Amino acid sequence: MCEPQHRPLTQLAVIKGEGGGIKKIIVVLTFVVLLVPIAVWALYKPVRVLAPAWVDGVSCVAPNICIEDKSRYTEAQQLYDNALQSVSETVGPFHNKPALIFCTSPDCYNAFGFNKSAAKNVGRSGIVVSPRGWKPWYIRHEMIHYRQSEELGLLSAFTKPEWFTEGMAYSLSHDPRKTLSDRWQQDRSKFDIWFKGVGADNLWKEAEKL
Ligand SMILES: [Zn+2]
Repeated sequence: MCEPQHRPLTQLAVIKGEGGGIKKIIVVLTFVVLLVPIAVWALYKPVRVLAPAWVDGVSCVAPNICIEDKSRYTEAQQLYDNALQSVSETVGPFHNKPALIFCTSPDCYNAFGFNKSAAKNVGRSGIVVSPRGWKPWYIRHEMIHYRQSEELGLLSAFTKPEWFTEGMAYSLSHDPRKTLSDRWQQDRSKFDIWFKGVGADNLWKEAEKL
């Protein structure tokens, strides 16, 4: 004889409670999954280099070039190609080609969270160029930072001494300015002395020890 099985009331309550708990967790997780990227997008603007075409006025016109003013694409492409070649020759070939975003208005540059600089590299995610940053040495400078993150890790800008990261970028970008502001001038001089000592062939191997 089979008697109908009745779960004790206490057990039912636990199951009901579990179901409600899971629902709550799902609702919370859904909010987190939906809201965290939106919050990051809104609050940490450099993350926008990951999806530049979502920024108002920016179009991605080639695999590694996004641009605000499409009529200046040829100029941007030339800056990109020349800098890529020059930096490869100076500090070794790129593992991956960097993505560049060329802004022509301060609004565009500000939309990525940047303000006064000429250009900015964001890890290995991309390089944003300001309206005044359309100069060969500024593009080379940021591509050198990109190479640093390829060779020395994403956090190299924070873990390596500034005289190395900035000094190298100012020096090996062949920045034409004879005199920089004190801070960068000192970084560049210190890097030049170090670089002479280690030699170009040992650049990355010696940089790892810093
Ligand atoms: Zn720099």
